[in-house]
Amino acid sequence: MLLTRSVSEACHFQLLCCGWQARKKLYLARLSMNTIDIPAMKELLWHRLRNDLISLVPYFSDNELLLCPACCRPLRFDEFSVEHIIPKQALASDPSDVRGVITQNERSGLTLLCRRPLVFKGKKVPGHGCNSWKGKFYDSSLRDLINYSNYVNNLNSRHQISLFSAGYLGLFRKFGYQIALLPSGLLMRNQLFHPNSFLQGVPISCQMILTGDKLSNYDEANRTYWSEPFKITVDSSSAVIVLRNMCFRLPLSRDPSQPFARALRYVPSKYTFRPDLTTVFE
Ligand SMILES: [Zn+2]
Repeated sequence: MLLTRSVSEACHFQLLCCGWQARKKLYLARLSMNTIDIPAMKELLWHRLRNDLISLVPYFSDNELLLCPACCRPLRFDEFSVEHIIPKQALASDPSDVRGVITQNERSGLTLLCRRPLVFKGKKVPGHGCNSWKGKFYDSSLRDLINYSNYVNNLNSRHQISLFSAGYLGLFRKFGYQIALLPSGLLMRNQLFHPNSFLQGVPISCQMILTGDKLSNYDEANRTYWSEPFKITVDSSSAVIVLRNMCFRLPLSRDPSQPFARALRYVPSKYTFRPDLTTVFE
């Protein structure tokens, strides 16, 4: 991160002093920096998530493992990779002025997902863990959702579950493991592995998408439309997620913005947290 910052500051200083050619060169250097940044981003996410997990489940302070937010298996650093929640392919057609101002990583939203093969009832699922699972079942539908101009007659249940699952990862990105380890988190994690239809426990209100007009250009006033993929508010027993021109709900067993007791033994139930570490896969 220090490297990024100093390079960024150097770029800014030089931009003030250089001509057009030099500006173009620096702009291209910045673009490639986004790629170089990924290993550092993985370290950063790993440590942030580890601290969060240890605060909820102290057992993890005695090992070097992290729970995958999708399958919930405890895994090592090298068994994870950085995941672009809104896939890069979906962002390729963003307007050029947006691409020039807001990095791809910002527009995607990043988290970690495992890359260790999933095993279901003794059989290995082809691919690299949850990373491949999301890519296989959801990324092309997410691309459709980002790029459609007309949603009527074009949406199917895979689109809906793609948005539901991406929203879950967005919620996890904002509030951490308390989302994954709540009963509602278990439901959303299970849903992620059922890409064709909604599970019985998913409320009807969480099976709808509201859409509005898409924006097609950038100005400072609409920066957050492009820069923050998941605008989240909590509304009693659900989270309301706005992703660009789409709005949908996700179930919540508990308001994650409310504090809970991490050390005290006896507190009112709304301040307690009981992690559910159930996994779908072995
Ligand atoms: Zn996983």
